[in-house]
This record gives sequence, structure tokens and C-alpha cells, in this order.
Amino acid sequence: MEQELHSLAAEAKAHLEALTEAGQLEDFRIKFLGRKGDFSTIMRQLGTASKEDRPRLGQLANTVKTEIEELFEKKKSSLQSSATTSDDFTKPDLTLPGRRPQTGRLHPVTRVLTEACAIFENLGFSVAEGPDVEQDYYNFEALNIPAHHPARDMHDTFYVSDSILLRTHTSPMQARIMEAQDPPLRVIAPGKVYRCDSDITHTPMFHQVEGFFVDKNVSFADLKGILTVFTEKMFGKKLALRFRPSFFPFTEPSAEVDIACVICEGKGCRVCKKTGWLEILGSGMIDPEVFKMVGYDPEVYSGFAFGLGIERIAMLKYGIDDIRLFYENDLRFLSQF
Ligand SMILES: [Zn+2]
Repeated sequence: MEQELHSLAAEAKAHLEALTEAGQLEDFRIKFLGRKGDFSTIMRQLGTASKEDRPRLGQLANTVKTEIEELFEKKKSSLQSSATTSDDFTKPDLTLPGRRPQTGRLHPVTRVLTEACAIFENLGFSVAEGPDVEQDYYNFEALNIPAHHPARDMHDTFYVSDSILLRTHTSPMQARIMEAQDPPLRVIAPGKVYRCDSDITHTPMFHQVEGFFVDKNVSFADLKGILTVFTEKMFGKKLALRFRPSFFPFTEPSAEVDIACVICEGKGCRVCKKTGWLEILGSGMIDPEVFKMVGYDPEVYSGFAFGLGIERIAMLKYGIDDIRLFYENDLRFLSQF
């Protein structure tokens, strides 16, 4: 019996050391310390021991039992405390109020640009993107703006070298596409353009959508029709259009296009400076000289082109009075869209 008690103590010790989870403790307790457990089984032999041995064996049994119980309690508290600590970190506190994740949104300029492209695509235009760093030839020469032409002064160009520059408009795509394809053409060219200019209505980089339409018998009426549909879809209401004679070297005749003020619808307000009109784009019939340069016969083909500023439209659409707000990355501003 003495031998059995010693080996039980050793077995229980090894068993406890191997325990890793609080859930296994109860099984241990039943096996070793329970009423029908190993310890109780050994104790039943005490009655059969001789009178002289009984006190010594009883004392040994008590020591072994106390030892196992103490080790068991120690293990229990260590397993339970480590279980609580890890629970604190992994289990969410369901009583806390919810935290809404911050969602990203499209920049207002991106939104208007995407919307503008979608409107023109629905009208049968395809989208063409060109390089931001452009050759002087496509930015100016091919658009009937030779060197020393006074119109070059209006562009405030960033030059990279004598013949390379940051494009000042998206019109170079007109020349690039007409050079490579034959009419009929219905294309828009959206993208970034660069001018050395910065104030409340100008930023050194801004976005334009250039559009052009070349076919037989294209007239100013087609231009007006396309722009009427565009403004109606973009601003969500029918707005009167006004064409004012203007000058661009690559169109003839040329016109600046105004829309009835989106705020007061023509009655006159602060935004339209009491005129009832807002300028939104430049346009015109493509100059025969431009056609000649790409090898089209101006007697056979005609076409119109227009260029609109995306920031300008976004400002009117959302009632923003300072263009620089678009590029200050102020989340309070951007999260409103
Ligand atoms: Zn107005």
C-alpha cells in the first residue's frame, strides 16, 4: 500500500504538469480525488493493514492527499487566471457602443469626371487618354498654333524642354487620333492638364474633357444638341444655352458656351454676378487647317470640338466658390460628397 501511495503521488504530479486547459481539471479531480477515484481505492486497503502499520500508513495517505490537493489548487488557479487574461483580449465587449468604420469616397472631381465620361459614352463617344507629358507639336503646331502665335501666351505653359511640355489642354488627342484614324469619329479625351497659374479659380493642374465629332455634314446644330443633352444630364435640369462668339486657333467659328445659372436659373444671383449666365466651356467647328494637317479633306468632312473644365463644373454642381478646396485634402470638405 505504501508503494501504491508513492506511485499515485508521482502519477498525479506528472498528470497535473501535463494539463494545459482549465476544462481538463474536473477529469483529473474525479480520477485522483473523487469518491471512486484512485486515492479512495487505495484507502480501502487501510482496514486490512496490521494494527502496527495503520497509523503510519494513515499519516502517509494524508500527506499524499494534501500534497495532490495543493498541487491541484495551484494548477487550477494558474490555468483560470491565464484563461481570463486571454479572454480579455480576444472577446469583444458587447456592451460598448458600435464604432462605425470610416468609409472612403470618390473625390468630387473624380465623380464629375466619371459622370461626364458616362454621359458622352451614352451619346456614342469613345474615350481616349493621352500622355500628360506632350510634344510641342501635338499641343500647339498640329492645332494650328505655330511658334510665336499670340495664342501661346494664353496657355502659361510648363516646358520640360524646347519641344516637350506638360500639356496645357486635352486637345492634343484630337490631332493624335485624327492622324491615326479616319472619320467618322466621336471621341472624348478626359485627363489632367497643366498651366502655370494659381488663384481662387485656377490651379496649376486641373481636369479637362476634350470632345470632338468628325463626319460628313456635321454642323453647329449637332454641337448644340450634344451640349444641351450633356448639361441637362450633368445638372439634372433643363438649362438654356448661350453661344458667344470667341476665338480659338483650332476652331472656326469658335464660341464660348454659357448655361443659364444653375443657382438662380437665369434670374441673377451672386454666383452668376447678376447676369443669369455661367460660362462652362469653349467650342467651335474644327478649323479646315487642322484637317489639312492630318490629311482629311475639309471639303468632305466637317466636325466640332469642345473642351470643358471638370473643376468648373464640379464647383457649379456642388456650389463651391474656391477651386483650391479640391486640392487641400481637408477631410471635412471631402467627406461631404
Ligand atoms: Zn445666378
